[in-house]
Amino acid sequence: MSGNLFIVTAPSGAGKTTLVRLLLENDASVGVSISHTTRPPRPGEENGREYHFIDVPDFLERIDRKEFLEWAKVHGNYYGTSRRWIEAEMAPDRDVLLEIDWQGARQVRQAFPQATGIFVLPPSMAILGARLSGRGTDSEEVIARRIDAAQDEMRHVDEFDYVIINDSLKQAVLDLQTIIKAARLRCANQRERHGSLFASLL
Ligand code: ADP
Ligand code: 5GP
Repeated sequence: MSGNLFIVTAPSGAGKTTLVRLLLENDASVGVSISHTTRPPRPGEENGREYHFIDVPDFLERIDRKEFLEWAKVHGNYYGTSRRWIEAEMAPDRDVLLEIDWQGARQVRQAFPQATGIFVLPPSMAILGARLSGRGTDSEEVIARRIDAAQDEMRHVDEFDYVIINDSLKQAVLDLQTIIKAARLRCANQRERHGSLFASLL
């Protein structure tokens, strides 16, 4: 059996990185993919921790070599998920979570139709803008571009299975944990996990 595959998508600033970080503090059985990107590192980001930071020619060569399960251009930079990493990580009772945009989510769903799509919404546009400014990691110009792009991203909310509104962080983390728990309790997963019980009862 392979673990579950979760896709978490949100407009920049909605809080998905924060949510996923808090999830991981209490759940060791989820592996989060570290994407490749051509975006420059933000202050405090480390190569190989938040992202693998590479240049555009390197990224384009990796596309040619079909190294990405999915890739997309987001806010003017390339982002992609390593196919090899996913294949190595998807093991029994080991779940995988991808933090990617809606374009990447579509590509992953084609390869893995059973993937669970989760969309994170901010409580309002005003709060989204305030969070982007408050994060203090992007220039005014980058923030303006991300706010414009947020509405385009949010138009794809109906392509996802679940929606989390990240107002109270505590509630939003609980919501994410609940979705993951529910996926783990799907009949097919339970049958695999408790094979002998199923065999003895049915
Ligand atoms: P994303 O990964 O979606 O771009 P981040 O996780 O970086 O977003 O969050 C953007 C900013 O908003 C960060 O400064 C983060 O601390 C803050 N933030 C995230 N969730 C909440 C929340 N529920 N309430 C208040 N601030 C939040
Ligand atoms: P940021 O630059 O703020 O870290 O991310 C910007 C956007 O790129 C976010 O919407 C994030 O979900 C998306 N993103 C990050 N990694 C990937 C990836 O590997 N593939 C795709 N398609 N999008 C990604």
